Amino acid sequence: MAAALNWHEQAKALDFRSQAFIGGKYVPAASGETFENISPIDGKLLARVAACDKEDVDRAVKAARTAFNKGAWADAPPKQRKRTLQKFADLIIKHADELALLETLDMGKPIGFARSIDINAVAETVRWYAEAIDKIYDEIAPTPKNALGMITREPLGVVAAVVPWNFPLLMAAWKFGPALAAGNSLILKPAEQSPLSALRVAELAAEAGIPEGVFNVVPGYGETAGQAIGRHMDVDAVAFTGSTEVGKFFLKYSGESNMKAVSLECGGKTPNIVFADTPNLDAAAQGAASGIFFNSGQVCVAASRLLVEESIHDAFVEKVKAMANIFQPGDPLDTKTMMGSMVDKTQMDRVLSYVEKGKKDGASLAVGGRQVRESSGGYYIEPTIFDGVANDMTIAREEIFGPVLATLSFKDTDEAVKIANDSIYGLQACLWTNDLSKALKVSRALRAGTVNVNNVDGGGIEVPFGGYKQSGFGRDKSLHAIDKYTQLKTTYITFG
Ligand code: NAP
Ligand code: MG
Repeated sequence: MAAALNWHEQAKALDFRSQAFIGGKYVPAASGETFENISPIDGKLLARVAACDKEDVDRAVKAARTAFNKGAWADAPPKQRKRTLQKFADLIIKHADELALLETLDMGKPIGFARSIDINAVAETVRWYAEAIDKIYDEIAPTPKNALGMITREPLGVVAAVVPWNFPLLMAAWKFGPALAAGNSLILKPAEQSPLSALRVAELAAEAGIPEGVFNVVPGYGETAGQAIGRHMDVDAVAFTGSTEVGKFFLKYSGESNMKAVSLECGGKTPNIVFADTPNLDAAAQGAASGIFFNSGQVCVAASRLLVEESIHDAFVEKVKAMANIFQPGDPLDTKTMMGSMVDKTQMDRVLSYVEKGKKDGASLAVGGRQVRESSGGYYIEPTIFDGVANDMTIAREEIFGPVLATLSFKDTDEAVKIANDSIYGLQACLWTNDLSKALKVSRALRAGTVNVNNVDGGGIEVPFGGYKQSGFGRDKSLHAIDKYTQLKTTYITFG
């Protein structure tokens, strides 16, 4: 990245892709309808984007199925898919500034993070699965001597990814990386708030040599395009990231249509447990703050419930308050900005209504709680900390998806675990301690897909990611993700 890049100037020069990408070309929605894509940075219109509906999903599924049956991708030697995907990753890096800018304009995250975190991780994801795919072997079963039991992995066929707006391209890449590597054709539906990077990256996939019809993008509303995907009779699987509420819809759609495989990465309410023997309380305070304020708290694993051991409670909360200051919202196109806007006005209003609810329920507002930078025309909220929260209050139970921290205290390890597990969610939990046996004991007791010890964001693409309980099922990242995009075939041969 050129250090002196003027992101405001770059933004003015951008040319948005705003049509669906089906069968290797940009096409308008069959109905001709579009929807307004507004930037939350300043409330201004970015583009009118094709509002895809059932008919467009149908076209995309046909293109995807035709491509799959032709086999140019599905039947290509893994080594060939590897090379093409490596080229795709190279192109993502080549266009990283542009893609980062699209993310920032579309959903308001700071450009520095979009460029150095999101887009690098997208390229790394594609590259990781590219490199893996010609190293995954099939199996031979232990059979009697006169038989051969082959267990082979086959791609599913047409796979759809329905994704949210908080890390628009990265959440998509966690699906399209392994799905494409395994040989599937893909239909991607980005969130209505953030379609631009997905639409642009489809073109890069084509440029890399991914055959037409293998990578399709249908922007549109959840209730129309999303539902049409969920209910389609010729989609083999849906990989979903989003809210628990909509995740449940996909289970219903599947049951009412063709029983397509569904994997769900849904909401969370991460408990972040700070024990009095934490080795470095400053590092823990920094983790507590970045854990909830990074990406304006619009993170499924946001460390939104801070559980502090009674003996250090007051001192520790003071430290977190000081750290919160670093996250005062600023211009998302300024590289120094640590926290940008909320994704849209609806989300901002929703988060502010949780702040009101917290006050009404008797929690004490220690820091923040207001909209700021109003004159920008955008939607910004201060870093907000509640203290004196009880775990039965709404702000401790529901996923706020904003920069709002709920602080609770606990007396001992058992109480910490009890509070932490008292949630419908189980995506992630964090704990801080100097005591290895306590860390292992508590980590075993926590009902969460990921437990971070002495950090809030452990692990890259090499570890699996997903939920317990109503945070969903199925795993993104790591080789385990391949399971979602392949099925096993047994071929049993007898002879002699
Ligand atoms: P969302 O409302 O559930 O939307 C997710 C996706 O589903 C979007 O593409 C959306 O389309 C679509 N959708 C909405 N209603 C639908 C319907 N009735 N039928 C079919 N599709 C539908 O979630 P969001 O507000 O975008 O994102 C925030 C949520 O995502 C949070 O709950 C967060 O925890 C979760 N999340 C989870 C993870 C994880 O890995 N576990 C990661 C990131 C986010 P439209 O946008 O067009 O409505
Ligand atoms: Mg938008």
